[in-house]
Amino acid sequence: MRASKVVLARIYTDRERNEIVLPADADERPLLRQYFLNPAFLAEFIHMHAANLTHIGEGRLVHFVLLNMARAEEWGAEEEAVIAHEFGHIWLFVNNYPAPAFEGKADSCVAIQAGDAVQHVLIRDEMRRRGIDFIPYWVRNLRAQLEALEAGGPEPFRSIPVCRQMAMLTQWIDARLGLSAESWEDYERYELAMARSFPHLREPAGEIAGMLRGIELSDLQRYTAALRAVLLKMSALAATPSHSAN
Ligand SMILES: [Zn+2]
Repeated sequence: MRASKVVLARIYTDRERNEIVLPADADERPLLRQYFLNPAFLAEFIHMHAANLTHIGEGRLVHFVLLNMARAEEWGAEEEAVIAHEFGHIWLFVNNYPAPAFEGKADSCVAIQAGDAVQHVLIRDEMRRRGIDFIPYWVRNLRAQLEALEAGGPEPFRSIPVCRQMAMLTQWIDARLGLSAESWEDYERYELAMARSFPHLREPAGEIAGMLRGIELSDLQRYTAALRAVLLKMSALAATPSHSAN
């Protein structure tokens, strides 16, 4: 068995210089620095509240949970839910549920989104089992998203990068699988706004959510098959010229 540890690090941004600041006392700082020097990783990270990375090397594993403190006011008092979510991904990793890893390539994001869509089902189940109330944080994020969509013009998808489009797709799949008009009063409003802003994602969201619904994903074989199917679907969608950003 390999040595393995979890490193939780709060990542700050120097707003004036627009630079990432790694805390001086962060564990495994040189390793962390390598990731933040990668523009593809950084481009994703700035949109996230938190990220998790598993570094494999020198006979050991380091699981990083990185909080993007530049966005801390967006989660406010819900930090537990943010961290629990990222720990959920690590929990799946150490239990040998494979997920596509970030490989530094521009299209890694599609694989990551596919992995998230599948893993989030299991993470939600586990958080429920542990009594972690993740709904307030989740709904808070979706409401912010909803308001931004409603304030925006029609068809903003044409101008956003394909990685962001896939992130929206995963968000939509998550909502379809984990929320309803009964559990969230703005659910129908969210559906309408998403369908208006991302008409090309509506069918894939329904299709992928339908695929994942009712599958016993804790079964490793079914999990792996589902992951492969979602990845294929998303890769094909991301490669369709009319869906790519110019
Ligand atoms: Zn996630």
